[in-house]
Amino acid sequence: MSMPQRIEVSEVGPRDGLQIEAGFIPTEQKLRLIDALSATGLPRIEVTAFVHPKVVPQMADAEAVLAAIGRRPGVRYGAFVPNAKGAERAIAAGVDDLKAGMAASDSFNELNTKMTTEQGMRAIAEIGQAVRGSGRQLVGVVATAFGCPYEGPVALDRVLALFGQLVELEAPLIYLADTTGMADPIGIQTLVSQLQARWPAQRIGLHLHNTRGLGLANALAGLQVGVADFESSVGGLGGCPFAPRAVGNICSEDFVHMLHAMGLATGIDLDALIGAARLAQEVVGRTLPGMVMKAGKASELHPKGVKAIKLD
Ligand code: ZN
Repeated sequence: MSMPQRIEVSEVGPRDGLQIEAGFIPTEQKLRLIDALSATGLPRIEVTAFVHPKVVPQMADAEAVLAAIGRRPGVRYGAFVPNAKGAERAIAAGVDDLKAGMAASDSFNELNTKMTTEQGMRAIAEIGQAVRGSGRQLVGVVATAFGCPYEGPVALDRVLALFGQLVELEAPLIYLADTTGMADPIGIQTLVSQLQARWPAQRIGLHLHNTRGLGLANALAGLQVGVADFESSVGGLGGCPFAPRAVGNICSEDFVHMLHAMGLATGIDLDALIGAARLAQEVVGRTLPGMVMKAGKASELHPKGVKAIKLD
């Protein structure tokens, strides 16, 4: 097994997580969470999306968020952009990484972006043009890469075509997203290996959801085929507004806890990240799926005499 020894964990909770919250989360609360995340050693944080406020009202304060976050040197701040207009707004607001992409399935695109695949591809090309020469980076994403909740399995050709377009646009990092948690560990390894064989120099990341409890198993499968870039959500925030019953991304602190237990480096202060997960619960006003923040780290021992273990 040749696993990468250094893993880049990118936080997407403030965007992928908060965007599905029904009630508008005040900008100050978003800033509290983002600033707490900035202090953990995370290399990348996706903080918002430059989408039309009618489509995603939760992200209507994108400019205000970017203007007020406490930027830390060494942290790259990202945002999702759906089109050239969004890209221009993001660049003007000082976003470092512009996330762009689309789903590998037509039904999902129609529902999610109201664009046909052809229109979507054109939008991505325009975003690529806007990013070129701006000093920012394009981060690509192929959504529903491991299955579509409306169509089922997604043809490999579709994934290759989209991924290839993002490679041509010189996205230094491209994520394969298991948007509604349909992947399994072998499926992860099969698709990643096929893309690695075709584009050996391309950095491939995984954006995983824990919809059916396979999130960390899928992450391990990715590590085993050399993937070193992962997106996750603090506390396990999130889901997908366009996918029926989809739950959140893999949980950042649970994932980092696993990586550290395996001796893999992330540069992240796990205790600080657990603190940020508790803050995320406060911000959304409910218990989140993250498990380590409730159980404590495996290294935290319990005093003898206090019964902590059930034997059944
Ligand atoms: Zn997601």
